[in-house]
Amino acid sequence: GREGMEEKDPNTTDADLRLAHDSVINLDHGDPTMFEPFWKVMGARATVVIHGWEKMSYFSDPTNLCWFLEPEFANQVLRLHQIVNNAATDGRHIIVGVGSTQLVHAALYALASTEAHHPVSVVSAAPYYSMYSGIADFFKSGLFHWAGDATTFKGDDNFIELVCSPNNPDGATRDAVLGTHAGKRIHDMAYYWPQYSPMRGPADHDVMLFTVSKATGHAGTRIGWAVVKNKEVAQKMVKFIEMNSIGVSKDSQIRAARILKVISDGYEFPDPESTVRFFHFGRHLLANRWQRLRQAVEASGWFSLPQFSPEFCEFFKEHAETYPGFAWVRCEEGQDCEAFFKTMKVLSRSGKHFGAGSNYVRISMLDRDTNFDTFIKRISSKD
Ligand code: PMP
Repeated sequence: GREGMEEKDPNTTDADLRLAHDSVINLDHGDPTMFEPFWKVMGARATVVIHGWEKMSYFSDPTNLCWFLEPEFANQVLRLHQIVNNAATDGRHIIVGVGSTQLVHAALYALASTEAHHPVSVVSAAPYYSMYSGIADFFKSGLFHWAGDATTFKGDDNFIELVCSPNNPDGATRDAVLGTHAGKRIHDMAYYWPQYSPMRGPADHDVMLFTVSKATGHAGTRIGWAVVKNKEVAQKMVKFIEMNSIGVSKDSQIRAARILKVISDGYEFPDPESTVRFFHFGRHLLANRWQRLRQAVEASGWFSLPQFSPEFCEFFKEHAETYPGFAWVRCEEGQDCEAFFKTMKVLSRSGKHFGAGSNYVRISMLDRDTNFDTFIKRISSKD
């Protein structure tokens, strides 16, 4: 079938391939360009037109707590969560943000107590997403500050734990490590989608963050959303976004709504002409990449990868493997893993940015086929 679409892009020329052969491959960022072939196949179905006179107002729905949330985007978010069944949304507030990055800022602002006499400690269990520390300290806020690895945290009950599950960088399924009797939590669910991880049913946390960047591959659209239980927390998040950017691009929300709609339509109203469906496509491609990476790693003996046990996936209704968006690669103790990959002209992100050792690196699994192919070739021919 066409589900996989793993063939080479017919527009790739021999000259492109020669260039790729010599050039530096940048797998440092998690730029999710691997989903482009799916969206090319979708063609006009995923294309939006916005007329010059449309979406000019600051406002989307003045009656909504989140007044800059486009109703059509909100509807498609709720619909996709219903189809995938990965998040409880009943009675929750949906808040749109400029990527989930803005929503991490907004949630920290909303959860930090304004009455506290000292800044709230922001923690996350190592290895943690490398942006969390920078986000927490960027404004040198009086409300919160970065306090590092949650597993070694020695402070009082005045903390916010960032829980990323499945985790960036290592793909692990996580719960809060500091328990839920004290402090507050932000659950970053960027990778809780069927292409990456078995779906274990709807997540039900106080503050959950999602993003089209990792859900659909549209990182450039800069749209994320939060699912928030508590009304006051939701109001404070909206206040932050008002102060920070007076809302979120309507154009982007309209585009994101269409993208989510195409994914949901693929499952609710399957097209008899085409069997390709988004999560099936993503899973197939990632399965192929992880299989090739594991083979190359086994043959080389230079480094190792995390292992995951298959689990029942409530979405695919079968036992499913975990295929993280990143490979969390472990080199030998004492080795500078980033420098090692640089000798193969592969840029990776050192473990030290994630609160781990420099014998680890994170490598993106989400790049275009040509880059991934070159990456596998290089690690396979390393002697
Ligand atoms: N959280 C996690 C765990 C991520 O990996 C990313 C993207 N790398 C983000 C948040 C931010 O994504 P965006 O701002 O594009 O939504």
